[in-house]
Order: sequence, then C-alpha cells, then structure tokens
Amino acid sequence: KKTTPKHRKNTILIQKPLPPKIPARRANAAFVMLVRNTDALGARMTIRQIEDRFNRNFQYPYVFLNDVPFTEEFKELMRPMSRANMTFGLVPTEHWSYPEWISKTKAQETRKAMKNIVYGWSESYRHMCRYQSGFFFQHEAMLPFDYYWRIEPDVEYSCDMDFDPFLYMQDNNKKYAFTMSLPEYMETIPTLWNVTRDFMEKYPHLVAENNSLDFISDDGGKTYNTCHFWSNFEIADARWMRGEAYQQYFNHLDQAGGFFYERWGDAPVHSIAAALLLPMDQLHFFKEIGYFHAPFYNCPAEPELQIKCHCNPSRNVNRERMSCTNRFLELAGVKGMVYPEEVFD
Ligand code: GDP
Ligand code: MN
Repeated sequence: KKTTPKHRKNTILIQKPLPPKIPARRANAAFVMLVRNTDALGARMTIRQIEDRFNRNFQYPYVFLNDVPFTEEFKELMRPMSRANMTFGLVPTEHWSYPEWISKTKAQETRKAMKNIVYGWSESYRHMCRYQSGFFFQHEAMLPFDYYWRIEPDVEYSCDMDFDPFLYMQDNNKKYAFTMSLPEYMETIPTLWNVTRDFMEKYPHLVAENNSLDFISDDGGKTYNTCHFWSNFEIADARWMRGEAYQQYFNHLDQAGGFFYERWGDAPVHSIAAALLLPMDQLHFFKEIGYFHAPFYNCPAEPELQIKCHCNPSRNVNRERMSCTNRFLELAGVKGMVYPEEVFD
C-alpha cells in the first residue's frame, strides 16, 4: 500500500535559505521597519531583496515596529524570509498620541485646511512622522543597537552589496547616510525653519562646527531651501539620535507643535538635524546602493557598479537638476562623485 512521503504531507513547504558564512567582524546594527499588518506582502518584497542583495551573507537582525500589535499571520509571513533574528515590537501609546500641550481641535482644523496637500488631511501620517522623528530609535527593541538601517515595504534594492554599509559607517566615523536628496513641499513645513533658528539661538553649543548649513540654506541660514535626505532609506548612528543635541532639537520642535499644526516630515527633521548638529564629514552618500522608492531611483551609472544592478542608470534622481545631491557632493568636496553639468538635461 502506498503512503505519502512525509515531506509531501505539508502542502506548503517553507524552506529557509542555506546557512550563510557570516563575516567574523560585524557592526552592532539592525534593520528597522515601521509597518502595518496590511503591508505584509510589500514587507516581504523588500526583505527578499535585502536578503538576496546583502543580508544573506551578513545576517543582521530585523526589528519590525507597529502602532497596533502584529498579527500572528504577519509574523508568520516574515519569519521564513531570513534566518536572521526578527523582533516584533509594539509602539508605546505615549509615542503615538497627542502630547498634553497640543490642542486636538486646532490639529483637526489644520488637517481640514491642509486637505489639498500630500497627506495634509491625515492624522495617522502625522503620528508616524513624529514617531520616526523622535522615538523609533528609543524603542526597547532598538536600544541594543548602535546603528540602524531603515527599510520600508514596497521598496526595491537593485544592486549587490558585497560590502557592509554598517561597518563602512563605523570605520569611517559616519553618523548619517542617504541615497537620495530632494526639495520638500514648503506648505508642509511653513514654520520649521523659524523654530529651528530659535533652537540655534537658544542652544548655540549644540550646533556643530563644520556643519552643512550651506546644504540646507542658500542665504547663510536666513531661509531653508527645503533640501533634505529622503529618510525612507537611512543608515544612521542611533547613539547620536539618542544623544543630547538631537534630543534637545526634537523636543524643541515637538513643543512648537508643527508635527500636528503643520505636517512636518521626519525627512526634513532628520536632515536639518544632521546638517546642523553633525560636522559635514560625518554625513555620507551611498551612491553604490541601488534603491527605488516610488517614484524615484538611485542607480549608479559607473560600469563597475552598474554591473551588479538591475536598475536603469538613466533613471537616477540624484543626477536630475531638482535633486540636492550634487549640491551635497560639491560642498562635501567629494571629488569624482559630483555629476557633471552635461548629465542635467
Ligand atoms: P511615504 O513614504 O511618505 O508615502 O509614507 P509611507 O506610507 O511609506 O510611510 C512611511 C513608513 O511608515 C512606512 O514604513 C510605512 O509602512 C509606515 N507607516 C505609515 N503609516 C503607518 C501607520 O499608521 N502604522 C504603521 N504601523 N506604520 C505606518
Ligand atoms: Mn514610503
């Protein structure tokens, strides 16, 4: 009599990748993704690429964060994607709610008035931006780590990374790294710069020497040119963000109320902080990390880099005139990386 072989009994056979050879030297670092239960498929797409392009050989752990508890289904969908450790954290309510000095009525009126601006109507988007600005790196699941790499559902990692970006940060004393930089919608941050100038006056000792004020201002600090690093990709030193300067800056912004009375994004907040509170040589552009977050790409064109990628190098937002990356590279004096004038057409 025929019997079904044991391994045939499960209709779905979940097979984990083969055990990798992990390098002996790694940084104390983790991936972090803030994500909804409903974005499990998009999260799997991102992790698949992170694993295939990088992490199968490095095994950095993943931290998933959510403002509501993760479902068992979500966790079961994530676990087979990597052999690396995964932690599923719940955001504490006090980090995703109104502080006592904020008027909910005024916040609601703002949302009505901003209904024609990207996410202007959205309450949850504001909690999300405030959380990403001031709190995720303080989550207890994040506290063990020195460096984090922020990832999002539905993004694309399109180049093999046969080096360790975390170790690059550590070995070169970098504290904040990006792959794209762009101008922000001024309607979302009308008073952010005035509140920031106020901070600089109040805490001049926290502003770094050799900072990159000229990256974010065209007139020596009078106004903000809205240049910011796109924070959906971000590799940074969490110890810097937990430190005095960043904390003072965040608290100063939080007191001013613009996360709720305007629609301050975590991207301009992180970027202004990195530009003012760090010396410029602690910021870094990872040009070799091919990355897509709708609707923009970073995709290296240099043949020795392009060969490791599946992206189209003619679609590289950093080489477009609107991008702020060339300005960054010129100011940072990164010779040989500035995109020549002829690419801008
Ligand atoms: P966008 O890139 O500015 O369009 O914003 P996203 O919708 O991509 O949100 C940024 C990040 O926050 C992503 O990682 C989302 O998964 C996450 N996110 C946004 N809103 C929420 C929310 O209400 N709850 C949770 N858990 N995650 C959220
Ligand atoms: Mn996004």
